[in-house]
This record gives sequence, C-alpha cells and structure tokens, in this order.
Amino acid sequence: MSGYRLGEFHSFASADQEFLYLVPSGAIFALDEVSSSVIKHLSAAERTRESLVAELIAQGVARSEAEEAIDELYQSHAIANGNGFPTEVQKAPMPFPLQSLVLNVTNQCNLSCKYCYEFGEDRVATPEGKPKFMSEETAHAAVEFLLANSPGRRAIHLTFFGGETLMNFKVVQSTIEYARTRAHAEGKYIDFSLTTNATLLTPPVIEYLAEQHVGITISIDGPKELNDQLRVFSNGQGSYEMIAPRVKELLAKHKTRPIGARVTLTSQVVDVKAIYRHLKDELGFHEVGFAPVTTSPVRLYALGSNGLNTVLEQFTELAQEYLEFALRDEMHGFSNVKDTLQELHAGLSKAHPCGAGLGLLGVAPSGDIAPCHRFVDSDTHKLGNIATGIDRDVQSDFLERGHINRKPECHTCWARPVCSGGCYHEAYVRYGDTGHANLHYCDWIRGWTDVCLKVYGEIAVKNPKFLEHFDER
Ligand code: SF4
Ligand code: SF4
Repeated sequence: MSGYRLGEFHSFASADQEFLYLVPSGAIFALDEVSSSVIKHLSAAERTRESLVAELIAQGVARSEAEEAIDELYQSHAIANGNGFPTEVQKAPMPFPLQSLVLNVTNQCNLSCKYCYEFGEDRVATPEGKPKFMSEETAHAAVEFLLANSPGRRAIHLTFFGGETLMNFKVVQSTIEYARTRAHAEGKYIDFSLTTNATLLTPPVIEYLAEQHVGITISIDGPKELNDQLRVFSNGQGSYEMIAPRVKELLAKHKTRPIGARVTLTSQVVDVKAIYRHLKDELGFHEVGFAPVTTSPVRLYALGSNGLNTVLEQFTELAQEYLEFALRDEMHGFSNVKDTLQELHAGLSKAHPCGAGLGLLGVAPSGDIAPCHRFVDSDTHKLGNIATGIDRDVQSDFLERGHINRKPECHTCWARPVCSGGCYHEAYVRYGDTGHANLHYCDWIRGWTDVCLKVYGEIAVKNPKFLEHFDER
C-alpha cells in the first residue's frame, strides 16, 4: 500500500483545542492527542501505515488506539492514501425544487441611494419600456409558479422587494392573502418577508405587517451622520430624520417576528461597531447584518483592501462579543456571525455560492424571471417569464458557469465550502461574468471564515448546547 498523506484542511485552535476544518466536505473535526500526532507526523512527510503506527507506539500510544485514530482521520478525509478521495463536487439534480421567490413588486424608489445596484452606476437592470409596478395578476401568477415549482417542499418562502417595496403595498397585501389561501389548499406552509427603506411605514402598514407575521428587514446605514452619507432623497437630503421615528414605531408595534437591519458598508461607512451599537442598543433592532460593497475599484464608495481590513477588524471584535454572549447562553444580534456559524454547523460544502437560480429566483414587475433580486429586469440575465416558465437551457448555462468545478482558482482554497466563488452579481459587476470567482476579496473571506471557525470551536468546547440553536428545525 502506498503512503498516507495529509488531506485538504484548514487547521485552527480554539479554547486550547485543535481542530481541522475539512475541505471539501465542510466538516469540523476536533483532534485528540493521538490524531494530532498523526497530523504532525504526516506534516513532516508521507508515511506508510506501518511506520505511522510504529511511531505512535514509540510515543506510548496503544496499537489499537493508533489504528483507530488513523482510520477515523482517513474516513473523514483528513488524511488520504494513494487512492485519494474525490475532489469534484456533485451537481444538483435538476429541475431543482424552488424554495424562495423574491417578488420585486416595483422597480421604483423614493430614495436615490448613491450605491444602489438598481439605479446606481453598478446597475445591471434594463428596465426601459417595462412595467414599473407589478400587477396583482402577475403577483398571483408568481405565487402559482412558486407552488408548481416547489415539489416535495412543505415550507416555502415569499419575499417582497423593490425598488421601494411599500410603494406597491396594495399588491403586497393582496398577494399575501392569495398566497396563504393557495398554499393552504396545496398542503404547504408559506412564510413572508419584506425589505423596505422604512419611509412609508405608516401605523396601518405596521399593524398589517405585524398581524400577518411578515418578517421585516430595514435598509439603514446607522446613525444620522453615517446613514445620510449615501441614503438620500433625489434632492440630496438625508433620509434618517424621516425613517428613525417610523422604525421606532415598527419596533414597538411589530412583535410577531424579529426585525432586522441591513447595513451597506462603503468607503464612507465602515464604523461597524458604532453602527451596530446605534441600531441594536439605541433603536432596538433584533438583528443587524452588514453587506460590504466591493464591486468596482473605480467606484468611490466601493471598499478597497484598507476598508475591508478595517471591516474585518471590527467584525472580529463584534464576533468576540457574540462569543461572550453565546457562552452565557444569550443571543447576540450580529447576524453575519450567526449566518456563518449556521453554515459551518450544517457542514455545508457549497457547489454554488448561493441559491440564486436554483432554490431561489427573482421576479421583475413584468413577470420576467431572474437568478435573484439583484438581476431582475436585466435582459442579459433573464431566465424566463412567470407566464411561460423557466428557460431550462439558459438556467443550466447560468448554473454550469457558476459551479465550483468551473472556478479553477478556488480549487486549492480552503474556504471554498462556504464561499464557492462568491456572489454572482458582484462577479458580474466586477469581472463581467457571473461565473468568475470574486478574487478581489479572498483574503477577506478566508479571514472572516477563520474568525467564525474559532468562535464555533470555542462554543463547541465551552457551551456545546448553544450550537443546538443551529440545528435544522
Ligand atoms: S473566491 Fe477566493 S475565497 Fe472564495 S473560494 Fe474562490 S479562492 Fe476561495
Ligand atoms: S447572487 Fe449575490 S445577491 Fe443574489 S442571492 Fe446570490 S449572493 Fe445574494
């Protein structure tokens, strides 16, 4: 038999315990003393099984223990022998059942945020001559499309998005009612979420959304001086004064679902901790998530590597705070760390960076289907229409190009189980190809994944029960 060698993994230590993050399986493996010795021996050079066992016995390890550790590491692919192990990631079976549909109920907005991917310089949409508002008829047809294309799934999800979503509130209302009735008739459970800039959150709207258990995400960039840098009306006036009282009213009245804030981080807005404190502690959001804009180096608002380093430092400090909360069995509201821990806990090894074009689709006001909300109204990325169905050839071309097997730069990267090349939209804006790996933020991805692995490891050692929050329900 040929020699044993190391498999593909990223090693990390947390709470005095050594771990391996196994690639490509995405599993986390805690090393005991014997398995740690096996890894150390193989780090020096390849070994036959006999010599590996002999070295461990010489260290005082019983033969049976040595054999067991080698077998366990081999079965988990932490080590390999001459036969190797498969590195190609399997393709998803098609047609893949839909889970979530994002309805862009309007492509109109009452704000003119400077970084907006729908209206700003990075837009990919070509909305000229197309409907500005989704009709009730199209929205109801989209519900039927979701029901028909989600075979085998009991729980499905409908998200309302814009433009400014609440500019078409009547259609949102009628679609929720229609979808509930139809899902019930089909024996499915449907839940709803909605993203808004908060400008149109009046008391009756808030009351309706609370009554209907609609999950809400508010786009807001922090306290007034930060929010108003880029989240402005068309006359340049900031939006904070208008939205703050509406957000407070929403948080006071809507108690049926957690309310989240979504912050866009740009070169002008990087003070993650101050933003978090304001949104969580002063305004009272349940969760705060941050999305760094890295799309184009020629956009003044895009984060360069210095900005990303600052963001990573602050993310790391907030992740530490999350850890302290978790060790006290308390929930912290930093959703970026929660989302990554969720993926690590599930042991995901992604073939595609996200569900776009697979379990998730976006729908434009015209009924055109797109891979996700960021591509709606784009002729280049159209995957079909609600009335005529998905164009399977175009869809499979999109998915083929986005598959990890087609991204050679990622094949030696230990972060690929969680990254898989990164967001298609960012790739398109940056490289002109949705299938291109987002190579401009690899250091950031690997840095952030390492932080989250260490948080995960420490929770696993000190308060493993907390990880049950991440079990599939
Ligand atoms: S884009 Fe970069 S970080 Fe992501 S998997 Fe590819 S090489 Fe790794
Ligand atoms: S393509 Fe990008 S924006 Fe669209 S769902 Fe995927 S990660 Fe999100």
